[in-house]
Amino acid sequence: MRRLILPLFLLLLALLPVVLPGSAEFYVTLLNYIGLYALVALGLVLLTGVGGLTSFGQAAFVGVGAYTTAWLTTAFGWSPWVTLIVALAATTAVALFLGFITLRMGGHYLPLGTIAWGISLYFLFGNIESFGGHTGLGGIPPVMFLGMELKSGREFYYLIWIALMLAVVVTQNLLDSRDGRAIRALKGGVVMAEAMGVNTAWYKIVIFTIAAQFACVSGWLYAHLQRFVNPTPFSLTQGIEYLFMAVIGGVGHVWGALLGAGLITILKQWLQDLLPKLLGQSGNFEVIVFGLVMIFVLHRARDGLWPVILNRIERLWPALAANAGGSVPQAELLQKRDMPQGGDTILEVRQVTKRFGGLTANNAVSFTVQAGEVMALIGPNGAGKSTMFNCVSGVNPPTEGEVRFLNQRIDALTSREIARRGMSRTFQHVRLLPTMTVLDNVAIGAHLRGSKTFVHSSIRLDREEERRLRFEAARQIERTGLAEHMFDAAGSLPLGKQRIVEIARALAADPCLLLLDEPAAGLRYLEKQALAELLRKLRGEGMGILLVEHDMDFVMGLADRIVVMEFGEKLAEGLPKQIQEDPKVLQAYLGGVD
Ligand code: ADP
Ligand code: MG
Repeated sequence: MRRLILPLFLLLLALLPVVLPGSAEFYVTLLNYIGLYALVALGLVLLTGVGGLTSFGQAAFVGVGAYTTAWLTTAFGWSPWVTLIVALAATTAVALFLGFITLRMGGHYLPLGTIAWGISLYFLFGNIESFGGHTGLGGIPPVMFLGMELKSGREFYYLIWIALMLAVVVTQNLLDSRDGRAIRALKGGVVMAEAMGVNTAWYKIVIFTIAAQFACVSGWLYAHLQRFVNPTPFSLTQGIEYLFMAVIGGVGHVWGALLGAGLITILKQWLQDLLPKLLGQSGNFEVIVFGLVMIFVLHRARDGLWPVILNRIERLWPALAANAGGSVPQAELLQKRDMPQGGDTILEVRQVTKRFGGLTANNAVSFTVQAGEVMALIGPNGAGKSTMFNCVSGVNPPTEGEVRFLNQRIDALTSREIARRGMSRTFQHVRLLPTMTVLDNVAIGAHLRGSKTFVHSSIRLDREEERRLRFEAARQIERTGLAEHMFDAAGSLPLGKQRIVEIARALAADPCLLLLDEPAAGLRYLEKQALAELLRKLRGEGMGILLVEHDMDFVMGLADRIVVMEFGEKLAEGLPKQIQEDPKVLQAYLGGVD
């Protein structure tokens, strides 16, 4: 049933210009504009909804597409299809440039950068003489498509909607892939994504560029539909309107872009007719109404209208609902890295000191971890255990001292590079993507074991690899005892189980050293036993495990060696039995906070 919806929708789209009578030209025009706007909003779904980056400057990219073709076709007589390639190249160059300078600074710099870019380009368009200044450029030639000159709105309609549907397919393919997971992981925070080996800066640039290119194509189409351009449609106001469309439609959903573009365009038409009559004077009053609608929607349906509508329809007509769950088909196993020899020192921490301003969180701490052993780091809260994890895994490099992993210095490397070398970790404060399934979350861990790029995934050349990645994720989920939750949203699990999801995610990276920060917290007795059993098994396979844990029974029963920390310093080191009898440790624990 559900599979029929898309073909029916496409059929309706294809028939509309044919069945609409000649007097309904207005509706064809409206649909053309909806298609053009939806293409821009779709880029925002990828950029803002999925990747968590906001751009106010999309209208300026539309302008780049429109002006490039307007100028090159009228002044030099170039073919529109050639100018499309030029426009896309120009857009890519601008997006890369803007992306490199603003994305690196992080946080709010991208939105600010896009505002500055939006404003300056708008004035540039209006002030360049060969662009016709504020009057604009006319006489743009029609596009030849399939041997036809697209002169009327009805003819042009097909080009717009084919472009939009292609963009929808590419976006959906991209999101349903290894790259899609990496892009979603951006929202889970840079620290987590990088620890899984995701090059966050690169993915941000990629989605920024793709979104800009969708906007550019929309502008190119617009110029050849109108056969005339002036700066007005590329202003910052329009850039904000594109964001409205995406947010109101549902910025996390591909079809939300179409819904938002449709709603806003129709609403705008209607309000522009109605409001001046109602108020007795002309003006852009619809903008005020948009603002109010936006606040209302954000208040009542934070994720936009698409999920709300989908939910309603599925409740009214359950046959349409997507089948939750499913199964993960068997696939060829991914290649595993060579494990170091049991007993080899794989991690060596030498005199590591970490200061945060005046606070010394780690003070000249040294210890080692061997392949095939569980080393536990214990100590009261605030002793500096998590800080040590961050020093070792590259999240927060040490102020002084040395960290060696597999006989190489790693203390100056990024966490992504360290992950690539075979170290994987969990976080004391769980960092999962709560709305994604357990399977997808765990598959992020296998990111570095795939190599297909977004070029492959957007045209589905990544399927074989994707099956193998998903199968690997499923295996790790089964291994950690979470099989029944494979298709549940990670955020719906109790916190203890979310920690286990993090362990599965870390294992999906095929590490030789595993860093677990309080893995047993929140687990019930039997779950703790199962976890201990799993860790013993991993140790048996030659993995080194560095563990922070407060549950003393758990630690004493599992660890081969223990390091005790207090106030950032190493207090003691030894076998569990020695530690249990160490007077310094007893003193610290009996008199300590824990
Ligand atoms: P533990 O994991 O042993 O409970 P932490 O390593 O989290 O301890 O913290 C050790 C000390 O370092 C604490 O006093 C904590 O407040 C401080 N600390 C940890 N991270 C930071 C940071 N990013 N900036 C400033 N202080 C920090
Ligand atoms: Mg901690």
